[in-house]
Amino acid sequence: MTVAGAVVTGPAAGAAAATANVRGRRRRRRALSRGGTTITGTTQLIGIIGRPVAHSLSPAIHNAAFAALGLDMIYVPLPVRDQDVGAAVRGLAALGFRGANVTIPHKGAVLQYLDRVDGDAALAEAVNTIVVEGGELLGYNTDVAGVYDALVDVCGESLRGAPGLLLGAGGAARAVALALARLGVDLTVVNRTAAAAERLAALTTTAVPGSACRWLPLTGLSAARVAAQRLLVNATSLGMDGVSKVPAALTDSVTAGQVVVDVVYTRGDTDWLAQARARGATVIGGLEMLVRQAAAAFELWTGRSAPLDVMRHATRQE
Ligand code: NAP
Repeated sequence: MTVAGAVVTGPAAGAAAATANVRGRRRRRRALSRGGTTITGTTQLIGIIGRPVAHSLSPAIHNAAFAALGLDMIYVPLPVRDQDVGAAVRGLAALGFRGANVTIPHKGAVLQYLDRVDGDAALAEAVNTIVVEGGELLGYNTDVAGVYDALVDVCGESLRGAPGLLLGAGGAARAVALALARLGVDLTVVNRTAAAAERLAALTTTAVPGSACRWLPLTGLSAARVAAQRLLVNATSLGMDGVSKVPAALTDSVTAGQVVVDVVYTRGDTDWLAQARARGATVIGGLEMLVRQAAAAFELWTGRSAPLDVMRHATRQE
């Protein structure tokens, strides 16, 4: 039987486990040589909990990385309804999963079912990665590291003290704001719902002592303000459907020398990134952030360095 590129050979458990493990390893080697992955009784399971998850690129990213490093692990989509989140999270431990990713709309809802939550997940009030350790469920937020690592790669320490504008105050924006505050960006949060922007600015300055974060309602976004920034980030879903657009002030006033980041991920540039690139800005797309958060999760589950290029390549194959 083949599931999403994986060869399923049935469980190898019980008294004959040692023999079965050897057989499993042989089958795995044969399957890997054919470009597939063998699932045996020793295969470690990782899932992604969300709704919907069928479109997710994460299975392709992680399965490619597991195969590249010859790890006996498999990553599967797990569509979960709102009312089943608790059962699904507790089920990870019950079923012997090594861990999971969590995506929209359950990143906040899973918090209450975890045994421990790390600092970034608590600050962002969102968990995107679960590790099962000795039967305990540990929650992390690797979206923060994803944005941070992508920006450090491109900008190094040059953003310290530089003005930056973040559009959005939802889940993705919370992770971005934390990363930018740690990078020392002099930050302004702009959001359609002003109260959410105000709350995020307060949360960020509390979370990162010494950081500067103020807020503006969307109506306060002017071309002059955009032009005065070194860094511009869209952390809303605007541009995701190819129809909705980021506000014109953000598009029309981008200049060369600015760094423009769009968390929305599409195969190529979003319209906003394409326009910013054409104006000479340095651009970072949502796919790079997706790969970086995946790399941080991979390292939590496996203790191994993530093969970034393999992961990037996998996003281009889907
Ligand atoms: P969310 O929590 O629902 O937040 C949505 C944000 O978009 C809010 O700030 C909302 O403003 C704003 N927004 C939505 N429609 C708008 C409109 N018509 N005009 C102005 N603002 C609007 O969603 P999320 O989890 O933050 O996800 C946002 C995007 O980030 C999605 O496209 C998601 O796929 C992407 N994402 C990417 C990564 C990655 O690794 N690349 C990771 C996480 C998320 P209000 O507060 O006014 O509603």
